[in-house]
Amino acid sequence: MRDKNGKCNRIGVLEQTFAPTPIYQLSEEYSDNEIYIKRDDLIPFSFGGNKARKAAQFYKEIMEQQPDVIMTYGSNSSNHCRIIANMAASMGLPCHIISPDERVEGKNGRDLCNSILVRQFGATVETCPVTEVADTIETRKKEYLGRGMQPYFIMGGGHGNAGTQAYVNTYAEILQQEEQMRLHFDRIVHASGTGTTQAGLICGKLLQKGHIPVTGISIARSNPRGRGVVRESIRDYLGDRFEALYSEKELEFTDAYICGGYGKYVAEISQMIDHVMQTEGIPMDTTYVGKAFWGMIRMLEEQKIHGQKILFIHTGGTPLFFDRI
Ligand SMILES: *Cc1c(COP(=O)(O)O)cnc(C)c1O
Repeated sequence: MRDKNGKCNRIGVLEQTFAPTPIYQLSEEYSDNEIYIKRDDLIPFSFGGNKARKAAQFYKEIMEQQPDVIMTYGSNSSNHCRIIANMAASMGLPCHIISPDERVEGKNGRDLCNSILVRQFGATVETCPVTEVADTIETRKKEYLGRGMQPYFIMGGGHGNAGTQAYVNTYAEILQQEEQMRLHFDRIVHASGTGTTQAGLICGKLLQKGHIPVTGISIARSNPRGRGVVRESIRDYLGDRFEALYSEKELEFTDAYICGGYGKYVAEISQMIDHVMQTEGIPMDTTYVGKAFWGMIRMLEEQKIHGQKILFIHTGGTPLFFDRI
């Protein structure tokens, strides 16, 4: 609902700065490194995750701009689309999602919990062939404008400088937590998709002169494109400061664990997810976090990395966890 002046509603939880998400050490059975986890999946909005952090940045802009409709795009397993649909519903704004008709299948062809949620938030989901997504977005934008409606458009996955900002802030949060916990992490590892999360963490490192390198485990894209997109996001965010601050060694992005691409996974990932659930009680999904966690453990073995303190960021995706059950 709009308020009595016809303005988009406030959402208290997105207006506040999220409390730092918990960091703690996992049991020692995964690796001979000390593995710590940062639980961004516990962020208190729409089942949490990195897209909730990004949404909080878009929310500020939406409150300022007071658009008439929110538009974005993504697949049926997109956590971003779910969170934006939730945010739009909570603000009293219509939400229009363009979705490629290449679906990620749920078990036995059932709808994914994520897409059921998107529907429940009342979003309009329009599907089209993946090659027509860009044109469809442009056409729909023009149609809204023609009807005197102002669309607010968010790139897929919450890509863009506002999304990057969310993880620049998170890098600062991690440095503070290190101080409180009196320890130093040797590296941060996380699932890298559109690259915004990784770009944010790396920009955070460069701007805050942090000491912790960031490794992205690609869950979909292969190199050189995957790496290139992260670099471009860093360049976009840093602007004039890019040349002075950035060097290629800052960008560790591995495509060795993509298992054939987005949404694809192997039995070992499933087994790892079961194991983590049973020993730590932490849900992970096969598309993002479970895949990246498995990839990280393998990478540590393959690269013979021992005795380090590794911080793995759990970037969310909780609704996707239920599709494996
Ligand atoms: C989107 C997503 C990622 C990847 O984040 P990017 O910023 O797109 O690289 C990782 N984990 C989860 C659960 C996600 O939903």
